[in-house]
Amino acid sequence: MRVDADYAAELDRADVLGAYRSRFYLPEGGLYFDGNSLGLLSRDAEAAVLRTLEEWKTLGIEGWLGAPQPWYYLGEALGRLSAPLIGAEPDQVVVTGTTTTNLHALLATFYQPTGERRKIVATALDFPSDLYALRSQIALRGGDPEADLILVGSEDGRTVDEERIIAALDETTAILLLPSVLYRSGQLFDLARLTSAAHECGALIGLDCCHSIGVIPHRFDAWGVDFACWCNYKYLNNGPGGTAGLYINQRHFGRTPGLAGWWGSNKARQFDMATGFDAAPDAGAWQISTIQVLSAAPLHGSLTIFAEAGIAAIRAKSLRLTGYLIDLLEAHGLTTAPYSYRIGTPRDETRRGGHVAVEHDDAPRIVKALKARGVVPDFRPPDVIRLAPIALYTSFADVWQLVQHLRAIIDGGEHEAFAKERDLVA
Ligand SMILES: *Cc1c(COP(=O)(O)O)cnc(C)c1O
Repeated sequence: MRVDADYAAELDRADVLGAYRSRFYLPEGGLYFDGNSLGLLSRDAEAAVLRTLEEWKTLGIEGWLGAPQPWYYLGEALGRLSAPLIGAEPDQVVVTGTTTTNLHALLATFYQPTGERRKIVATALDFPSDLYALRSQIALRGGDPEADLILVGSEDGRTVDEERIIAALDETTAILLLPSVLYRSGQLFDLARLTSAAHECGALIGLDCCHSIGVIPHRFDAWGVDFACWCNYKYLNNGPGGTAGLYINQRHFGRTPGLAGWWGSNKARQFDMATGFDAAPDAGAWQISTIQVLSAAPLHGSLTIFAEAGIAAIRAKSLRLTGYLIDLLEAHGLTTAPYSYRIGTPRDETRRGGHVAVEHDDAPRIVKALKARGVVPDFRPPDVIRLAPIALYTSFADVWQLVQHLRAIIDGGEHEAFAKERDLVA
């Protein structure tokens, strides 16, 4: 393992995705390692927003059908463009709503507790919003969230053993609901295996792919996943709070959406204004409200970059970046005494998502000290510094510099000048 800056430069020269960096606006200093929380703006996404504003300016209401990409079909069109990223036939994907509300819409459809089969299996390390949604859906069905939500625990506080998830499934399981990647440690689950396990015991499987969409290839159709949701503002760079996405396996087409709204109508009939709901024949049926055209517009630009670069090349570089980061942290002695920072992310490439979790009691202060130097990571309680080098806009030289900053901060005790409390938005 070479630890010199020249080696980072060599890796950058050999990088087939290097040219994409110039398509993005990097914040001052350019050391942005938080693209797993909020992806950066690309010139393509910016152009798509400006185009949309121009359409609104010049077309008014006529934009619904008269814009070059008619707004009326925007959710379906963006779903089609997203489909290759999740390995799905296009009509199973739609861009709509937001992550947690989409999860609610999916659970309201697919969580049908009957007889003994009323439990939802999830993990104790899930993103809190997903757990809040699960408990409230159980309560809405008259169930007991304490009894009906089974949270598979973690032995090490960072990862969840798939064997334990599978062992938790039985004839009382209605749904296995999992994140593809745990948001804190970055553990990637074997989704093909877990899908088979859920189906073997007669349960459905739903996935939250917020931390894998745009950084890891998926094969939903081949695996047979039942339903999924994700946000588009992390690795897909759709902007803060940007419109999200969902997937419905075609074997479930024709089911009545649990939370119906007119935007889920059969498009040809929607403006009949009939009092009965005539649902779209595909995933489009799970839309509820008018698409937020301005919040979906950036995705149109952003997805063109993903189509050009290809998700396989993005995954390959992402693994090289995170692997290089872990190697450098170790080579600089940071993972052994006296530094003793711990790597919480699995080393195994088949188990690793798109970011690296570095654990230490000083994490909140280290994050502040990094930001004071113009380096942007994020912090997750209790002790995790998350660092996400992004294939489309982070260079190997950036990763090298990050590690130099980190080591200098610790050696100089710079973090000791900061309060131990995390910021309001960390
Ligand atoms: C980011 C993220 C969310 C965010 O939910 P919103 O409804 O978009 O605020 C939900 N779940 C997971 C797993 C996430 O990573």
